[in-house]
Order: sequence, then C-alpha cells, then structure tokens
Amino acid sequence: MTEQRVNIEMYVRDHCPYCDNAKILLSSKGVTWTEIHLGKEPHRKEEMILRSGGRRTVPEIFVDGVCLGGFDDIAALEHQGKLDPILKLQHKEKTMTDIHNVVILGSGPAGYTAAVYAARANMKPLLIAGNEPGGQLTTTTEVENFPGFPEGVQGPELMELFRKQAERFGTAFLQGSVDKVDLSKRPFTLHLESGQAISTRALIVATGASAKWLGLESEQRLRNRGVSACATCDGFFFRGKPIAVVGGGDTAMEEAVYLTHFASQVTLIHRRDDFRASKIMADRVKTHPKIKILWDSAVSEVLGDDKAGVTGIQVKNLKTNQVSNLAVDGLFVAIGHQPNTSIFNGQLQVDETGYIVTKPHSTYTSVEGVFAAGDVADKTYRQAISAAGTGCMAAIDAERWLATQG
Ligand SMILES: Cc1cc2nc3c(=O)[nH]c(=O)nc-3n(C[C@H](O)[C@H](O)[C@H](O)COP(=O)(O)OP(=O)(O)OC[C@H]3O[C@@H](n4cnc5c(N)ncnc54)[C@H](O)[C@@H]3O)c2cc1C
Repeated sequence: MTEQRVNIEMYVRDHCPYCDNAKILLSSKGVTWTEIHLGKEPHRKEEMILRSGGRRTVPEIFVDGVCLGGFDDIAALEHQGKLDPILKLQHKEKTMTDIHNVVILGSGPAGYTAAVYAARANMKPLLIAGNEPGGQLTTTTEVENFPGFPEGVQGPELMELFRKQAERFGTAFLQGSVDKVDLSKRPFTLHLESGQAISTRALIVATGASAKWLGLESEQRLRNRGVSACATCDGFFFRGKPIAVVGGGDTAMEEAVYLTHFASQVTLIHRRDDFRASKIMADRVKTHPKIKILWDSAVSEVLGDDKAGVTGIQVKNLKTNQVSNLAVDGLFVAIGHQPNTSIFNGQLQVDETGYIVTKPHSTYTSVEGVFAAGDVADKTYRQAISAAGTGCMAAIDAERWLATQG
C-alpha cells in the first residue's frame, strides 16, 4: 500500500451504526484514521461541536482538518465520485477496492436478505448466485406462509422481488458457483468454477441445503404435484386427504405428526423394522391414532400424472418382495437434507451431519470473518422466513465485525 496522503480523524461513540458504516466505507478505500471516542473522552465533545461548526451528531469526519460531516455526507460524496479525490487516492490505491468488504455466497432468502442489509449499510456487497439462482423456492409454486403476502405468492416471483430489493440498494451480482475457498488467511479467497478468484474481508455463507430424494423418475416428475420434502410448507394442501411419509428419523416423525393436523390418514413407510428416531418421537408416532406404519417397506413408484397429481404409491415389502398400491394424494419424503458445505471441508466447523456450526444467538462461525445464514446452518426450521431472518443477522454481524477491523 502506498503512503496515505491525508490525515483522517473521526469522532465516534460505541453502539453507533452510522460510525460503523463510516468505518466500513473508509476501510474499503484502504485508508486509516484516528478515532476520538467521545464515550471515553467526553470533554472533547465541545471541541467536536466547535470544529464542525455546531454539529452535534457522530460520526464527524475530518480530512486534513476539514469537516466532511457524518456517514451520510461521505456516502453522498462517494456516490458523486468525489470521495477519492478528497482522500487523494490514486489509481493504485483504488485497487484496494478489488478486495471486497463482504461477499455473500448464495441467492436464496438468506443470501438476498443479507445483501439488502449489507448494501443499505453501504458495505457494497458482492453476491455470488450459485447454480440455483433464487434458491430452493424457485422450485416450488405457491408459497403461502411468507409474511406480507396475504394471498400467497409464487416461489420464483418471491425470489425475484428479493433480488430486486437487493439490487435497489447497490448489491453487485455475479453469476456462477464457487468450487474452492481459502479461509486460512484474510482476505479470504474464493475460486469460481470459471477460474476467477475473488478476495473478501468478510464472507457470508448462505449456500442452503438440498433435500435428499428417493431417486425415482416418477418422484421427480411429480414434485410440486403431490411430492414434497417439506411438511410445514405443503401439508396445508392436503386437508382431509390420505398421505404418506417416508423416513425413520426424527424429521420423519415430526413431519408425520405435523401432517396429522391436515391429513385424514398418514401412512409412514420405513425400510427397517425399527425407527432410528428418538424414543419419545417414535412413541408419539407409534401411538398416534391417525398414523399407520408400514415396516420393512420402500416406495418403488409414485403413481399419478401432471394433471391429476399424485394418486397413489407403489410400496414394496423388502422382506417378502411383495408389491402393493396405496391410494394417497401426497407423498412427503423425509429422509434428510444435505447442507451445501462440501467446499468448506476442513476449513469451517460443521456438525456430524455437515451443517455449519454457529456461535449461539449469532451467525459467527469457527472462522473469524465468516458468517453463516439460512438452511446451511439450520437443520431445525428450514423455512424461507427463518433463512431471511438469519440473513439479516449475518449482515449485521459482518458489518459490526468489519467495523472492529479498522
Ligand atoms: C419444494 C420446496 C418448497 C418449499 N416451500 C416453502 C414454503 O412454502 N415456505 C417456506 O418458508 N419454505 C419453503 N421451503 C423451504 C425454503 O425454500 C428454504 O428454507 C429456503 O429456501 C432456505 O433459504 P437459503 O437462502 O438458506 O438457501 P437456498 O434457498 O437453498 O439457497 C441456496 C443458494 O446457495 C447457492 N449455492 C449453493 N452452493 C453454492 C456455491 N458453491 N457457490 C455459490 N452459490 C452456491 C444456490 O445457488 C442457491 O442460490 C421449500 C423448499 C422446497 C425445496
């Protein structure tokens, strides 16, 4: 870095988001500054008011003794292209901005929400969309439980609105997928499949999780037409109808019990003769009057067509090889989810099932400067609204963390 040619002073206080934003903007320019903490040196308040011509807000930023104002003022200068000349930045120094403040991996509800917050905080986020732009919701039709849409909304339409909102505040988008990362030193390096390498000070991982499927052609053909991997999302559509659930773990138990609120009957199909779910969950299922269990059985075909949707399933008894048909209107596959974390193998702490581990009540991961949001760090809720919520948290966590980096 070439020598800085201006002297920057900033009057700040703790817990001041505008101070944090000003620090992020200046650090993105590769410049350093002296901080005057009015919390620690309250007597310097009068000095600030006098020097700024009567201003009584923090931050107050001075370049070579001249007051530029607060965060909004320097953000406006930046917008007009006037900040770099004031900071006497030359082209070489400008390349510092080639290192991004924050890169967001993933364009589902978590990634886009993180982008809205990061962009509004003037962090100039870069969002890398991945091979499934818009995320899992683009694979579904009606979303009825996302607040703000009383009549429901189509999944792809909802994600388009998310994208537009992130775009409005200045998020930069990059199409493509990251296939390698180096989190061993900062700035972090991300390698795209295209060969491009990207450097970033902070990283928000919002790469989601993918439902595991049975692998039947008919299952894929009838997805969203009665085949689902999300009871909370789609159970509502099967009020008063018979449905089937496949699986033997806690998720399958939860989904089966949840679906009894809607379905006339739930048939639970499991490959073995005992569940691997916790005893309490298994007992709840075994004693539930609306749940029937088919042990030692597997779904060998999903019956139905595009127009009628699912009309039934073919079930094979794995001990006798006997095949029978069961009339159901819906099939819920609950054999687990696969978090998209393979590119972080050995670099980020994950739990025994591959989900990123975050520190309690935050999105901080095991690597300082890396934050995780959405399904990739959540095996419990896995909903669009909870993903969006943690996306918001990740952007705020990243913003505050960057502000501490100076
Ligand atoms: C069929 C279906 C219906 C659903 N219906 C509902 C519903 O009605 N209501 C509800 O609340 N929830 C619903 N869900 C669940 C909801 O979609 C998820 O909880 C939510 O999408 C999770 O958001 P996310 O941002 O964490 O991840 P995702 O939506 O999974 O997005 C992950 C993103 O990461 C990107 N990515 C992955 N790997 C990489 C990489 N290596 N590099 C760059 N990018 C990468 C992908 O391209 C994608 O954009 C449904 C899910 C499914 C599958």
